[in-house]
Amino acid sequence: MARKSRIDSRRKFECVNCGEEFSSGNWAGCYGVPTQEHKVERKMYYCSWSNGFQYCLKKEKTLVIPDGDGQRTVQTPRKVARFHKGQFSTDDPEIQEVLDKDRRFCSKEKFIDSKLTPQAKMRRREVVITEQQRLIGHLQSQLAQRKEQPVESESPAD
Ligand SMILES: [Zn+2]
Repeated sequence: MARKSRIDSRRKFECVNCGEEFSSGNWAGCYGVPTQEHKVERKMYYCSWSNGFQYCLKKEKTLVIPDGDGQRTVQTPRKVARFHKGQFSTDDPEIQEVLDKDRRFCSKEKFIDSKLTPQAKMRRREVVITEQQRLIGHLQSQLAQRKEQPVESESPAD
C-alpha cells in the first residue's frame, strides 16, 4: 500500500482553534504545542453502502519529540472513522484528507437518494415536477399580467 501518496503537501488547511494555516501532514503543533493537533471546520461524510462502516486510518504510534534539552515520547491515538447510520463527521483534517480522496463516499443528496425505495424516489420526483410546474405557471401569469398592463394605463371600456 502506498500510504505516502495520501499526503498532499500542497493542500492548505486553516485551524479553527489557533487560526494558523498549515499544510497537509503538519497536523500537530496547535498553539505551538507539539502534541496538540489542529482542528478544521467539521465536515460530514456519507456512506451509501454501509450503515456502520469503519475505516482505520492510523494505528497508535509512538513519537519521540524534543522537550527542553531532552526528548520524550508520546503516544498518538488510533484514528478511526466510524460511520453511524451511514454518516460520519469529523473536524480532524488528517481524517478529512483521507476521506476526501476516497471516491466511495457520496454527497448528502446521493446518500438520501440511496436510502429511498424506487417508489419513494418516483414520488419525490413527482413532487419536484409538480412544484416546478406550479412555479412556471406562476411566472407565466406574472408575465402575462405585465403585458396586459401598458405603461400608460387606460380605463377599461364599458
Ligand atoms: Zn491549531
